Amino acid sequence: MGLFIAMRTSRYLLATLKENPVEAVVDSHRLMLRAGLIRQVASGIYDWLPTGLRVLHKVETIIREEMNKKGAIEISMPVVQPADLWRESGRYVKYGPELCRLKDRKQNEFVLGPTHEEVITALCRNEIKSARQLPMNLYQIQTKFRDEIRPRFGVMRGREFIMKDAYSFHIDHASLEQTYQDMYDAYTAIFNRLGLTFRAVEADTGSIGGNHSHEFQVLADAGEDTIAYSDQSDYAANIEMAEALAPSCERGAPQDPYSKAPTPGCHTVDEAAAALKMDSDNVLKSLLVHAAHEDVAEGQEAKPVELVMLCLRGNQELNEIKTGKIPGIADPIEFATDEEISAFTGAHPGSLGPVGFKGRIIFDRAAEKMSNFACGANEDGYHLINVNLDRDIPNYEVADLRNVEEGDPSPDGKGTLHLRKGIEVGQVFMLGTKYSAAMGATVTDKNGQNIPMEMGCYGIGVTRVVAAAIEQHHDDKGIVWPDSMAPFQVGIVAVGLGKSEEVKNTAEKLYKELEDLGIEVLYDDRDERAGVMFSDMELIGIPHMITIGNKGLAQGIIEYKNRRTLERESVKCEEIVAFIKSKLDMN
Ligand code: ATP
Ligand code: MG
Repeated sequence: MGLFIAMRTSRYLLATLKENPVEAVVDSHRLMLRAGLIRQVASGIYDWLPTGLRVLHKVETIIREEMNKKGAIEISMPVVQPADLWRESGRYVKYGPELCRLKDRKQNEFVLGPTHEEVITALCRNEIKSARQLPMNLYQIQTKFRDEIRPRFGVMRGREFIMKDAYSFHIDHASLEQTYQDMYDAYTAIFNRLGLTFRAVEADTGSIGGNHSHEFQVLADAGEDTIAYSDQSDYAANIEMAEALAPSCERGAPQDPYSKAPTPGCHTVDEAAAALKMDSDNVLKSLLVHAAHEDVAEGQEAKPVELVMLCLRGNQELNEIKTGKIPGIADPIEFATDEEISAFTGAHPGSLGPVGFKGRIIFDRAAEKMSNFACGANEDGYHLINVNLDRDIPNYEVADLRNVEEGDPSPDGKGTLHLRKGIEVGQVFMLGTKYSAAMGATVTDKNGQNIPMEMGCYGIGVTRVVAAAIEQHHDDKGIVWPDSMAPFQVGIVAVGLGKSEEVKNTAEKLYKELEDLGIEVLYDDRDERAGVMFSDMELIGIPHMITIGNKGLAQGIIEYKNRRTLERESVKCEEIVAFIKSKLDMN
């Protein structure tokens, strides 16, 4: 008997629910609760019930197989990590409130690991002594904790979740590139085996850091990420990274001098546009953010910082990731508070504008093509109209500040961009020497020099994968698992087994035979109404369902139903085992 054993419902924690739980707003969360996969313990923190755990173990097995194939080696690191390691890397302050901090009884400081770069780098600076041990790729499948600001969608964005995280160490960049490609290929194999429709996209490196990264995005409307892809090339990027090219048009010539127009009570671009009777794309959106500044040290008050004005077309959206990368701007970006804004300009946020603004002004590439536009007057209740760059705003810079939109040209010059929602199930990073240099993880190179090792890191959200798979694979009856993830392969529903010895004996015998063949069977022996037992099988999403009842047996027949196609077949009793084996591709 293997890891995945057969079960009978009378001796199992089925835990299915008849009603839709009110707290679930996405299909996967609703179905995971209803099919008895998970239960919430606290916000973003879940129990995995036996059916859910079976699925999770299948995902983990596939991940292990593909990681091992690429020569990665499994280890296990602690959830509780010393705060001092995070001080060494500089992330104790940088990581912010998502990092859960705690003290032991001796007042030693610890964190709950949201990721493991610090711990692995500390391990490898001691254990890897010679360049001959390189490259080395170590991974674990383990619990992470991130105190997410908005845990939601069940295990899709939890606070405690399981991640497969791998970390590779190299003597040089060429070796890192090789392993990065291996991991990219392993992830492609993993998500293909899991039956997911996904895209690998260029990605930002966020708080992990590094200089080159791809995310693996499962395409689904419930996704929190937006990905942009070209219809004529293989360009695909998270919208956070996608470059918006400068429009090729010329800017129009200035006409009348600018003047002041009343816009009482208008706080948004749309309200101002309505009051001024113009389109919102002719109204400028002006935002104030903090200029780059020193990190606030532990226990210190933040000092006042300079403000930078960002200007976009009124109907376009600021891209915070691209903007944060502009030199001189705080990264991650920090919006000025209402108090800072009024102290600096004398007006409230809805009335900001670049005319007369004494500070750094950055126009988006598209906004730079606007002429005779409206913008806030830096005076509450007023806008300026007929404003023009150069004439009225002599000093400004131009940069790529906005999110790309459906129909924009692809940044590689080939085709047009389209947008889709995605669920990020994995990400691979080239870290370079960020952690090894900060923490002194060095090896001796062939010239006898001590150099920091090049590093890569590679994560898969194991628990999130389960939710993402359900988003892609369900119907109105429940989950329709890809075969590789199904918690059971075969379901047996015995109808009226309390009343009929023949039904009972046939079902017990079949259960035993399939179990002996190593097939993962869920046998419903609860003697419930047929409809109840059958809807549970469909809800859980068991790929092959068998119904044994008096009527069929009288004709020597057992009913088979395929969960995916919903097609039924009548199978002769004596042929049912061979029939199931053929459905499972067993010979
Ligand atoms: P996100 O942008 O969704 O917050 P991330 O980019 O911060 O995720 P990584 O640091 O890249 O996450 O972690 C690796 C993987 O762990 C992610 O690709 C994702 O699948 C998973 N993951 C991250 N945060 C969560 C979470 N709060 N709940 C469940 N899975 C998560
Ligand atoms: Mg990520």
